[in-house]
Amino acid sequence: MIRSLYTRVVLIFLVSVIGGTLLSFFIATWAFREPLNENLQIPLVHFAQDVARIYEVLPTDEADAFVAGMHQLSSYHIRIYESPDVFRSFGQLDGEGIADITSEEVRRVLSGEKIQRNPNGLTISLVGLPFETKTGSQAIFIDPMGSPSSLFVLKWLLNFSVYALVAGSLVILAAAYFLVRPIQKLTGATRRIAEGHFDVKLDIRQKGELGTLARSFEQMIRELGQLETMRRDFVSNVSHEVQSPLTSISGYAVALKQVKLSEEQRIRYLDIIIGEAGRISKMSDSLLKLSALEAQSPQLRREPFQLDEQLRRVVIALQPQWQERQIAFELDLPDVRLAGDRDQLDQVWTNLIGNAIKFSPDGGQIAIRVETDESIVTVRVADQGIGIAPEDRERVFERFFKADRARSRKYEGSGLGLAIVKQIVTLQGGEIAVESELGQGTTFVVSLPLAPPN
Ligand code: ADP
Repeated sequence: MIRSLYTRVVLIFLVSVIGGTLLSFFIATWAFREPLNENLQIPLVHFAQDVARIYEVLPTDEADAFVAGMHQLSSYHIRIYESPDVFRSFGQLDGEGIADITSEEVRRVLSGEKIQRNPNGLTISLVGLPFETKTGSQAIFIDPMGSPSSLFVLKWLLNFSVYALVAGSLVILAAAYFLVRPIQKLTGATRRIAEGHFDVKLDIRQKGELGTLARSFEQMIRELGQLETMRRDFVSNVSHEVQSPLTSISGYAVALKQVKLSEEQRIRYLDIIIGEAGRISKMSDSLLKLSALEAQSPQLRREPFQLDEQLRRVVIALQPQWQERQIAFELDLPDVRLAGDRDQLDQVWTNLIGNAIKFSPDGGQIAIRVETDESIVTVRVADQGIGIAPEDRERVFERFFKADRARSRKYEGSGLGLAIVKQIVTLQGGEIAVESELGQGTTFVVSLPLAPPN
């Protein structure tokens, strides 16, 4: 219980406020001890001395009449003793809080002593002074009726502090609740995420640090959710991509077990098995390449090389794929020297030109153009092939994406080629875009910095 943040906030508040109030009360009382005493005692003593002086200068009956008319009698009670048993009293006789005076005290004052009753160390509740009249020594006792005003102020202050403390505690109970609630929500959300639920809504509309934290948290949940979706898609894609060649491998292997097979059939089945095994191997190779690229920091090997030469070499290397299908190339390759990772860029052009060949009709034409400005080189690979639908254009760079799965059966491939291309181009500090019209052709545009920034 004490471990909960709510309890801690409330306890810290109470301890600091109560402790602080008590400490400051003691420090203030100690520091103001002298002035406080004087402030509270002096008026009463002075008043007693003034009344005594009246009796010393005026005849007793005149002094009595004068004192009986004093308006201070509403706050003070005055008693004049001639002897311990004979006294005159002024002010309300049965007023509340009138002090009892012992005959011992009367005797002491009559014999010339001054007395002060000082019950709480701060205020005087009774003062007794001797004075002389023509008829002999007398004693005057004055006591404040009820609480003296300063004592009243003190009591009021004390009450005020207690009420302030209680009200403050109630307010902090409510405030702590609102303070701690977002944190509790965040904790709950963390637990749900740990359990694999990414549909958490925090509903924290606060501003300030907690609001910022909540918004960053929501952003993190969204990204985690996307990652989780990507992970699931990835697993299902890999399984799917592996499953279909495996099914055909096992199907043809079973068929090979038949005894009555012509040599021709046997070779055809074996070729299919070899081809499908090759597909799996290619896919795992691409996946490894992609994961290596994703783990790579953008600090790549950068060596200057002739881009135009590299592109020509790639076209020649792919000759077996285009020559038979009578695909023609139109090359516009000015002399360009580029600093970059040669091997990785080789892969980019192989994939792009390979795709252009794959999706071109027989007898089609592919144009490769290189343009440079001060700092950027742009390579365009344009074909007149099947094209890509507008809704698929952005997705072609996703892993395993094939624009039309049914149609793509005709075209071999795992859907990883462009993901690898995009990753390499990004690592080289460049960009890739696609322009295409369904049935008309596709152009991939790669822009690379001539000398990538450090
Ligand atoms: P794959 O290995 O299947 O070719 P890619 O990542 O290279 O995978 O391409 C993803 C998808 O993008 C392809 O399946 C195809 O649908 C589409 N695509 C890529 N290049 C072209 C192109 N030149 N013309 C038409 N469609 C293309």
